[in-house]
Amino acid sequence: MKNIIIFGAPGSGKGTYSDEIVARYGMGHISTGDVLRSEIKNGTELGKIAKGYIDNGQLIPDELMIDILAKTYDALPAGQGVIFDGFPRTIAQAEALKKMLAARKHDMGIMIELIVDEETLLARLLNRAIEQGRADDNEETIKKRFEVYHKQTEPLSKWFEQEGIRNTFTWKGSKDVMLGEIFAFLDTIK
Ligand code: ATP
Ligand code: MG
Repeated sequence: MKNIIIFGAPGSGKGTYSDEIVARYGMGHISTGDVLRSEIKNGTELGKIAKGYIDNGQLIPDELMIDILAKTYDALPAGQGVIFDGFPRTIAQAEALKKMLAARKHDMGIMIELIVDEETLLARLLNRAIEQGRADDNEETIKKRFEVYHKQTEPLSKWFEQEGIRNTFTWKGSKDVMLGEIFAFLDTIK
């Protein structure tokens, strides 16, 4: 499979659909949120830095994030395609990703944007707070994450459009329907 960038607001289902895509096409998966949470759990230096930002709903600085991403990418087996989940989140990260892949003679492949209304997003994140107890899934931090998303991440959608690789999928109330649409699309491009 080609590389896939999965893009969307907090709670849009990036992790959920990534797992389904990995199960169907057998590719690598990088979730920057999971990488950071595991660093926090292990009490590493990086984890200590990341925690301050995550608990406040802020993004980890680009320079640090780009470095983590390249290391994680290089540790995966080459040639299978990778799904990037939660990265890039800023224009600087997107430019860095493009450059990092080009240096390895790889490309970004395609971008999948998950479009979900904010009422659904909020309900999902509040529900996840109960089920998974993630420290940043409380109403105050969620609001901050939405703000950060609109300001810093959403403009990237146009950047991908200009790159000619943006494909949008809109939530219509059913996970199976959305997944079916994504698979139907991916089946045509692999
Ligand atoms: P979901 O996974 O449900 O779509 P989400 O996008 O809010 O929700 P994660 O992707 O797990 O969750 O990210 C959690 C937090 O980790 C972010 O709010 C941010 O602080 C930090 N983070 C993750 N990826 C990046 C990144 N590429 N750049 C900067 N910070 C990041
Ligand atoms: Mg996630």
